[in-house]
Amino acid sequence: MTDWTGKYIENFYRVLYDAYGLRHWWPSDSPFETIIGAILAQNVTWTGASTAISALISAGLMDPDKLFNARDEIIATHIYSSRYYNQKTKKIRNFLQFFLTEFDGSVERMKTEPVEKLRIQLLGLKGFGPETVDSILLYALEKPIFVVDAYTRRIGERQGWFDEKASYEMMQNFFMSRLSPDIHLYNDFHAQIVYLGNQVCKKTPRCNVCPVRNNLILPGCTYPGNKI
Ligand code: SF4
Repeated sequence: MTDWTGKYIENFYRVLYDAYGLRHWWPSDSPFETIIGAILAQNVTWTGASTAISALISAGLMDPDKLFNARDEIIATHIYSSRYYNQKTKKIRNFLQFFLTEFDGSVERMKTEPVEKLRIQLLGLKGFGPETVDSILLYALEKPIFVVDAYTRRIGERQGWFDEKASYEMMQNFFMSRLSPDIHLYNDFHAQIVYLGNQVCKKTPRCNVCPVRNNLILPGCTYPGNKI
């Protein structure tokens, strides 16, 4: 059985970084936009979320007070491309209510709170699961927390890191117990995993172009198709 050391996980990241370069994630002009983007990106392609973000910006609504004062129908119309637009309008409103009440709409003020407290508060908002909350904490608030998702699960299963029944927390702990709490590393590592899962380690994996396939500094992927 392979011993998945911190060094191994760092090497895994290094191989992806060398292959794909810095991913520059999350693409946005402000932390507030990143937060709204994390909500809009739920269960949709990035293209769909990105179109909705652009529509809110064009309408002058990418601002906590202006967005809060906009009618639900107006918000829903602008975020139509993100799918589930009525649900997402409610989620945006839930967040804004919390954000304006607790932090007066200031990301800087929100950042001063400890990550553990913020995580509990955000998870308490209706419609906010761990992936959305951790994306907000890492990418908007620069808190050292590792984001995992469906791509992480697929790649991790195929690598032999965890099985298909692993919980979100188990997957997250796999990384956080092995890596130092470095927000730059956490930021780009998750982005690299998303890129690998989206472009290469797809449902039907493209092992022949995968940079982690039988790499000399890695023990090798356990996925059967990798051996062909
Ligand atoms: S070798 Fe194949 S199965 Fe393994 S991570 Fe790469 S693409 Fe996925």
